[in-house]
Amino acid sequence: MQIMNNIPAVMIIFGGSGDLAHRKIYPALFNLYRQGLIQDNFAVIGTARRPWSHDYLREVVSTAVHEFFGEVNEDDLAAFASHFYYQSHDVTSVDHYKTLKKLASDLDEKYACQGNRIFYLAMAPSFFGTIAEHIADQHLTGTGFNRLIVEKPFGTDLASAQVLNKQIRSSFNEEQVFRIDHYLGKEMVQNILPLRFANPMIKVLWNKDNIKNIQVTLAERLGVEARGGYYDQSGAMRDMVQNHIFQIITLLAMPEPSRLTDQEIHVAKEALLDSLVIPDEAAVARDFVRGQYAGTETTFEYVKEPNVDPDSNTETFVAGHVEFKHGPLAGVPIYFRTGKEMREKKTRIDVVFKGQRSLYGQVADNTLTIEVDPTDQIYFHLNGKTIQGGDLRKEKIYYRFSDEEQAKVPDGYERLIRDVFVNDSTNFTRWNELRQYWKFVDAVEAAWQKQNEAGVKPVKYPPYLLGPAESKQVFQDPGDSWIYK
Ligand code: NAD
Repeated sequence: MQIMNNIPAVMIIFGGSGDLAHRKIYPALFNLYRQGLIQDNFAVIGTARRPWSHDYLREVVSTAVHEFFGEVNEDDLAAFASHFYYQSHDVTSVDHYKTLKKLASDLDEKYACQGNRIFYLAMAPSFFGTIAEHIADQHLTGTGFNRLIVEKPFGTDLASAQVLNKQIRSSFNEEQVFRIDHYLGKEMVQNILPLRFANPMIKVLWNKDNIKNIQVTLAERLGVEARGGYYDQSGAMRDMVQNHIFQIITLLAMPEPSRLTDQEIHVAKEALLDSLVIPDEAAVARDFVRGQYAGTETTFEYVKEPNVDPDSNTETFVAGHVEFKHGPLAGVPIYFRTGKEMREKKTRIDVVFKGQRSLYGQVADNTLTIEVDPTDQIYFHLNGKTIQGGDLRKEKIYYRFSDEEQAKVPDGYERLIRDVFVNDSTNFTRWNELRQYWKFVDAVEAAWQKQNEAGVKPVKYPPYLLGPAESKQVFQDPGDSWIYK
C-alpha cells in the first residue's frame, strides 16, 4: 500500500452532533491522526443545529475517542481535538453556507490546507440534496481537491436516487463522490477479491461449471428498536439488500479486473451489473419470501412496535436470489436472506460447489464459508474418512486470525475515510452500480405492492430463529437448502 502522510484538507461534517459522527467518524479520524495520515495541516468543521461552541465540540470529540479506544495519549488527543471547530447551521438557510465558506477559508489559511475540501453528509438523507445544491450555489468548494462523502441510504428508489444524484452532480463529478457503504470496509468483504484471484486453486473453480449456488446471510438479532418510523418506510429490501447484500454479491460474481486499480475494479463491476436479471412479478411471487417478526410473550410483534403502522406490509425479513447473464457465475443462483430478530448477529457467505459422482456414493457438498461478522474467518468443508470404519466425516480447514491480529483489524469507517483522503474509490459505490441495484429493488417492491393490493401479506415468523420456514422455497433445486442452519 502506498504510504501517504499529512494530507492537507478542511473537512466539513454536516451532522457533526449526530450519532454517526460520535460513534464512528471522530474515532476514525483520531486513528488516522495517530497514524500520521492527517497531521498539522487539517481542520474539521462540525456543523449541526445545536448552538455548540468550538470547545464544546472538542470535548465531544475527546469523549467519543475515549469511548471507542479507552485510554489514549492525552497530549495526542488534545492536539488532535484542537483542529476541530463548530458552526451552528441550519441546512436550509443560505446565509449559513456563507458563514461556513468563510470559516472554511480562514481555517484553510491557518492550517495551510491548500484549498482542499472534504464534505461529509452525515445527517438525515432527506437533506443530502439541499446541502449538495447549496455547496454549489454558495461556491463552498475549494481551489484544491474537492470530495464528497455521502452516507446511505442514497435515495428510496431509482427515481429519488436519480434526483439526488443530479443535485450532487451540480457541484461534484462522479470521481469526486464517495457513496459510503460500511460493509465495503469490513475485513472479510475486502478479502473476497484476494481470496478469488490470489489463489489459483480457487480461481479455476470459481465459475458456473463448478459452483452450484452461493448463499449470503445477513442476520440481525435486534428488532427495529426506536427506529420503527424510519424502518416502516424502508423494510429489509431497501435497508439491507439494496446496499450491503448487493455489494457483497457484486464482489462474489464480478469478472477478474484487468488491474487492481479502483477504475478497473469499477469497470469489472459495471460489466457484471449490466447483466443483472431483473425479476418480473411472477418471479418475485415464486422466488422471494418476505416476512415480519411475530413477537413473543415478552417482545413486540413488528406491527405493534412504536411508530409502525398496525396494518404494515413492510418486511423485516426477505429471502430471494440474484442472477447474472454474464460473468464467471452466469446463471448461478446467488441466494440471500436478511432479517431482524434472527437467532444471532451474523454475516456469512456460503459457496456451494457442485457434487461429482463419487466412489463413496452420496457425499456432502464441499462448501467454502466466508464469515464477515461477528468473527473474521474463512473455512472450507472437506470430506475424509473416519478413523474407525469406512464412513466419511466432514471437517473444516480454517483461515483465521489470532486474537492479537483480530484486535488490529481497523473499523470499516476508518478504512473508508482513509480511502477518501488518499482518493481511492475502490470501496465506494459508483452511480452506475447503484442504479442497477435500485432497478432490481424497485422491481421487487412493485411486485410486492401488487401482492399487497391483492391482500397477500408477509408471512409471520417466530423471532430468534432464522426467519420463516418458507424461506427454503427460494431454492430452485428442491434438493438444496440453507447451509447455515
Ligand atoms: P442523527 O439523527 O444522530 O444525527 C443527525 C444530525 O443532523 C445531527 O447532528 C443534527 O443536529 C443534524 N441536523 C438535523 N436536522 C438539521 C438541520 N435542519 N440543519 C442542520 N443540522 C441538522 O443521525 P445519524 O445516526 O448520525 O445518521 C446520519 C447519517 O448516517 C444518516 O444518513 C444515516 O442513515 C447514516 N448512517 C448512520 C449510522 C449510525 O450508526 N448512526 C450507520 C450507517 C449510516
